[in-house]
Amino acid sequence: MPEVRPKSAEGVGRLGVFTLVVLLAVFLLVLVKAASRQGPAIRLVNPVKGLGQSTPLEIEVRDAEHGIRKVTVEVRQGGKSLAVVPQVMRSERAPHSWWQFWKSALPSSLTLSARAGRREIPELQEGRATLVITAVNDSWGHLFRDGQSTLTLALPVRFTPPRLEVLTSQHYINQGGCDMVVFKVSPGTVESGVQVGRYFFPSWPVRSSQPDTRLAIFAYPYDLDPSTPARLVARDDAGNETVSSFNYRVFPKKFHTDTINLTDEFMNRAVPPILSQTPDLADQGSLLKNFLEVNGPLRARQAQQLIELSQKTAPEFLWKEPFIQLGNSKVEASFADYRTYTYNGQVVDHQVHLGYDLAVTQHTPVVAANDGVVIYAAYFGIYGNAVIIDHGCGVQTLYGHLSSIGVKVGDKVKRGQTIGHSGQTGLAGGDHLHFTVLLDGIPVNPTEWWIPTGSTTASRPNWRRFGRPRRAPLARSSQLNESRARAPRRGGRGAEGCVAPGRR
Ligand SMILES: [Zn+2]
Repeated sequence: MPEVRPKSAEGVGRLGVFTLVVLLAVFLLVLVKAASRQGPAIRLVNPVKGLGQSTPLEIEVRDAEHGIRKVTVEVRQGGKSLAVVPQVMRSERAPHSWWQFWKSALPSSLTLSARAGRREIPELQEGRATLVITAVNDSWGHLFRDGQSTLTLALPVRFTPPRLEVLTSQHYINQGGCDMVVFKVSPGTVESGVQVGRYFFPSWPVRSSQPDTRLAIFAYPYDLDPSTPARLVARDDAGNETVSSFNYRVFPKKFHTDTINLTDEFMNRAVPPILSQTPDLADQGSLLKNFLEVNGPLRARQAQQLIELSQKTAPEFLWKEPFIQLGNSKVEASFADYRTYTYNGQVVDHQVHLGYDLAVTQHTPVVAANDGVVIYAAYFGIYGNAVIIDHGCGVQTLYGHLSSIGVKVGDKVKRGQTIGHSGQTGLAGGDHLHFTVLLDGIPVNPTEWWIPTGSTTASRPNWRRFGRPRRAPLARSSQLNESRARAPRRGGRGAEGCVAPGRR
């Protein structure tokens, strides 16, 4: 006879074990949540060195374990606590599976922005104050009082914006060209320069011993309306800003137009190497589509890369003499030529040529236009094999389409030193040098920086001064910088009108 065990007893046993396991799990979970007392991590994204009229704060709060319940921002001064309401800019939840029911529905990462200053807190007084940022998560630590962390910063409070005094008088700027303004700022200024439309050109100390006397080379980029206002801007560590005008006159310039007839032969030779050297560029399926991808989107991306590379500039002028143009070269295309590209009689693209195309003979030695440091020496999209030299204070020169590169990143080069040989790598229709002068990554007209060709006074070129100091006598102004920051010559070379198609 088979043994019969009471059914009910077995059922109770299993249910009991199951209940016990669930209870144990809940108990462990409570224990874990209650045991963790750590608050979220708080970080100020922008460096805040003081509070002013309306100081921007960018706050990042992260919590790897729990959800963020609350973030508060307050300014404490004279025993009072003055609250500022932050705005959530970005909110993220840590990813977790559907069955992890205990995981928080609250964000695990928050980016907030706020402004704290007299505008937001009218009671705020000049002097000192404490900025307090508090973040609370949903852990059950501290007897269910949540995990909390605080970031405290003792800061100066300043409401008076920086003072600006312009030392140079009249400034003349060609559209697409540059000029320089010298000015003084009051102590505490952390950023100053010239704002022209969307472009900001930072200033540099004239001497390291006098950080408040500054010079800013600025451009009127070729694509800006000449009526766009140029202003001097200074900001202090408390976020206060002064905007000041200065005397200048802009000379509008008419740039050349040019038509380039694309051939299969040219595209077959130029485009595939660029594609193979630029791995993030997808094949568009046809030769013409690939050309257009290189000529448009890639060109635009490289313009952005040039702005990023401009950050690698030295804080002082590395050159003393004027820039030199490739010797005995024929100008085949000039600055800001507006190019229309046709294929089989159809207009397929428009682009602007932001440099000079200089041709000598095949594989001619290419020389550094001035003293500087190599910051790029490799294949560079449309420019093929390219070298970029930094000359300091945001001034850089680019040499494109080289057949060979003779320098490496970090090399100090001298004016006239061979840095490679001309070629037709990249988007080039024939052997030539593509030469660009960049100011803070923005292409500017090179003719202003060159010595006039055929000049017999090469060592003492007839340069226009970058403005003239209003107060200081001329003798003193020539001491302004070791650089002798003099003007590029104004006006173009006679050959500027010579435009040949088929070049990049
Ligand atoms: Zn070119």
